[in-house]
Amino acid sequence: MDRPIKRRDFLNGVAVAIGAPLLGGHLAFAQQSPSYYPPTLTGMRGTHPGSYDTAHSLRDHTFWKNHTDKPADTGERYDLVIVGGGISGLSAAYFYRKIAGDSARILILDILDDFGGHAKRNEFDVNGRKLLGYGGTYAIESPSPYSPIAKSVIADLGIDVTADARVRDTKLYPSLGMGPGVFFDKATFGADLLLPDPKPEKDADFGDPGTSETHWKAFHEQAPMPAQAKLDIQRIYEGVKDYMPGLSPAEKKARLARMTYAKYLTDIAGADPAVIKYFQTRPHAYFGVGIDAVSAQDAWGFGLPGFRGLDLGTEPGPGISHDSVQSDEAEKYWFHFPDGNASIARLLVRKLLPAAIPGNSVEDVVTARADYARLDESSSNIRIRLNSTVARVQHLGDVDTAKEVEVAYIKDGKLQSVRASRCILACWHTMIPYLTNEISDRQRKALASAAKVPIVYTNVVLKNWTAFQKAGVNSVYAPGSYFEAMQLDLAVSMGDYKCPRTPEEPIVVHLMKTPCHPGLPARDQHLAVRRDLYGTTFETFERNIRDQMGRALSSGDFDPARDIAAITVNRWPHGYAYEYNSLFDPFWLEGGEQPCVIARQPFGRVAIANADAAAYSYTDAAIDEAYRAVDDLLGISRG
Ligand SMILES: Cc1cc2nc3c(=O)[nH]c(=O)nc-3n(C[C@H](O)[C@H](O)[C@H](O)COP(=O)(O)OP(=O)(O)OC[C@H]3O[C@@H](n4cnc5c(N)ncnc54)[C@H](O)[C@@H]3O)c2cc1C
Repeated sequence: MDRPIKRRDFLNGVAVAIGAPLLGGHLAFAQQSPSYYPPTLTGMRGTHPGSYDTAHSLRDHTFWKNHTDKPADTGERYDLVIVGGGISGLSAAYFYRKIAGDSARILILDILDDFGGHAKRNEFDVNGRKLLGYGGTYAIESPSPYSPIAKSVIADLGIDVTADARVRDTKLYPSLGMGPGVFFDKATFGADLLLPDPKPEKDADFGDPGTSETHWKAFHEQAPMPAQAKLDIQRIYEGVKDYMPGLSPAEKKARLARMTYAKYLTDIAGADPAVIKYFQTRPHAYFGVGIDAVSAQDAWGFGLPGFRGLDLGTEPGPGISHDSVQSDEAEKYWFHFPDGNASIARLLVRKLLPAAIPGNSVEDVVTARADYARLDESSSNIRIRLNSTVARVQHLGDVDTAKEVEVAYIKDGKLQSVRASRCILACWHTMIPYLTNEISDRQRKALASAAKVPIVYTNVVLKNWTAFQKAGVNSVYAPGSYFEAMQLDLAVSMGDYKCPRTPEEPIVVHLMKTPCHPGLPARDQHLAVRRDLYGTTFETFERNIRDQMGRALSSGDFDPARDIAAITVNRWPHGYAYEYNSLFDPFWLEGGEQPCVIARQPFGRVAIANADAAAYSYTDAAIDEAYRAVDDLLGISRG
């Protein structure tokens, strides 16, 4: 890609949807306005500008210095107030109403300008053609089987995961001569080069792509890496050698749980150290860190190569991550909506507030236009109030005997309050210590330890994808680049939504970045990069998108200035729930109480949900923890 990127090529952080009005990265006008429609916003989304200022002032202890007046009581009284309108908060409302009945009055408050939390929908209009993308939660997928509770919700929403085989065309890209590629970038590997990936990761999207002698040949002849490292990479993938002879499987797993995968590759499997940069970002999508901070046992469980000769059996050893224990049953429970699990959030909202999401089927929810004005109507028993940051949750009286909880929140710059008989905190756990003084230091510390994993999901709309086809790739692993992966949207058509099928049509490309600080313990990596991520401008993302796509797809004549139609950067500084790691969390390996169990204890009339409560970053955890929180309040399991 020789053409220099010019200033005027940039979209400048403003939405550019061909044939659609220009809008900013967040909505300044009221939820009740007919023009209020956050899914079509482009620019910086996810944790969008303006959404986190109040939360950060609580963290910095400046909020209450600037808000010395009593919150203005709106006069509203609820049975339940839920803090957080992600899948957990919405599920909590669903369960509570199921038990308490339709007359239950429930208010859901969320910081963001859209509901769904991480389950975020991005919509684009390209010359009248609607394209959808997932700005967060990608699919119904979980290494562990969904619980009966979570499955019952999915079934009640009308989702049949076996329909995946009918709605998703896994043959489209291969039929066009496209497959997974790997991009070596100049800064990391000494030269820019796109090659077919000689051994792409097995994934749920396309199954096991197998291996090809031609691809290995091209890899050995052309990949800009030392010859020994290339031989070692093929040996790691295909060799069947026991690198830990004389140890039982249990002894091997115990050792693997205590060393990084990077160390395993070089010190145990004897690979050239140059292989590390090739594998470094392979586990990013699952663990949010690279192979310097993922244990070798997790790498084995997760299917990374190098263990074929070790005869480790199938049983995971102690200290393996949830993510590494993929059961056959769980593997089959997989479904991708064109907007990811935002469709689950929308189906939950439809259950709670049918008028807000027109239609009545799983197919029609895909294209239904949500009516945001219907979310927060005084006539409704259930209300969802967006752009509302909760600043305090406090019992009115003694925690153990009080009959009411006051929830104070900022909306439109105004500090106001509502009262409720009960409250569920379905927000991020690190936020909770700033909302209440009614918990012990032990619980506070446990909540604060749930360091979320920063992650960025970017959707780039292309006017066509002929460059991808010419380059022969539909997905690219880019171990040294700014974005570690990019992928053409999955070919899923549902109801009136028809995915692009010919390279001349516009399409959404998904780019993923998991910012890390290799060398530090996992939690410290997340903390170290979070602040940087908040400070990274849209222009920086855009520059990197243009640069990386231009270089990676140069063999397909990709021209960012000509081919890119719109960009939405979904920035999640507080992304995946932190999952325990045998390298850094001794209790995970050796036993002992897990912080998430201490963190999620109810106090008085307040219960705690969110995926953080399970230390498990999946949709089913958000649903299960919502159920448990409702149970904590209503004692369903106690009858
Ligand atoms: C990029 C990404 C991709 C993912 N992909 C998958 C996937 O493919 N499959 C899968 O199963 N899981 C996936 N996950 C995990 C899954 O999305 C989560 O486990 C689940 O959606 C979490 O739901 P939640 O309601 O617990 O939390 P969240 O979705 O984070 O919702 C919490 C809400 O609380 C709000 N909040 C926080 N503080 C306050 C406050 N003080 N006042 C008001 N509101 C507040 C936040 O704005 C947020 O909307 C992914 C996560 C991310 C980040």
